Amino acid sequence: MTQPPSMYHQDRQDRLIREFEHDTYKIRQKLPEPTVCPECRAVYHNGRWQWSEAPAGANEEMCPACHRVHDKCPAGFLTLMGEFFAEHRDEIIHLVRNIEEREKAEHALKRIMAVEEQDGGVLITFTDPQLARAAGQAVQHAYKGDLDFSYQEEEFLLRVNWSR
Ligand SMILES: [Zn+2]
Repeated sequence: MTQPPSMYHQDRQDRLIREFEHDTYKIRQKLPEPTVCPECRAVYHNGRWQWSEAPAGANEEMCPACHRVHDKCPAGFLTLMGEFFAEHRDEIIHLVRNIEEREKAEHALKRIMAVEEQDGGVLITFTDPQLARAAGQAVQHAYKGDLDFSYQEEEFLLRVNWSR
């Protein structure tokens, strides 16, 4: 059985969420509104990136999620390991992709970056630490197993490990 996270841990998680409400990765100045990302066509409007139609003549600048993809600089990591995982691999990765689809529809900057083979399992990288956490929690909710988080404060990223 997995122990619930300590209060201390929970505080750190909450702080992480606040810090990432607005990912300003590579965005150094306040963007004019509307701004459209030339890569993914997300629109910065009302202080956040969202999926909507960009008006003609909108300012263009790459969104933080596309910057992270270009720089190969994930904000969240989820490793999936273990014998059970090996047997149910496709199904579990499919679940993670469903979580991304659902979250990305509402939050334009929450995306999977890559699904990579790793020794004994798979590493999934994300543009957003909350998405890594949500994906890990969904896997644990569906399949039990062991889940742990490590938040690297100085780098603003979250590593999530699940195994069964
Ligand atoms: Zn973009």
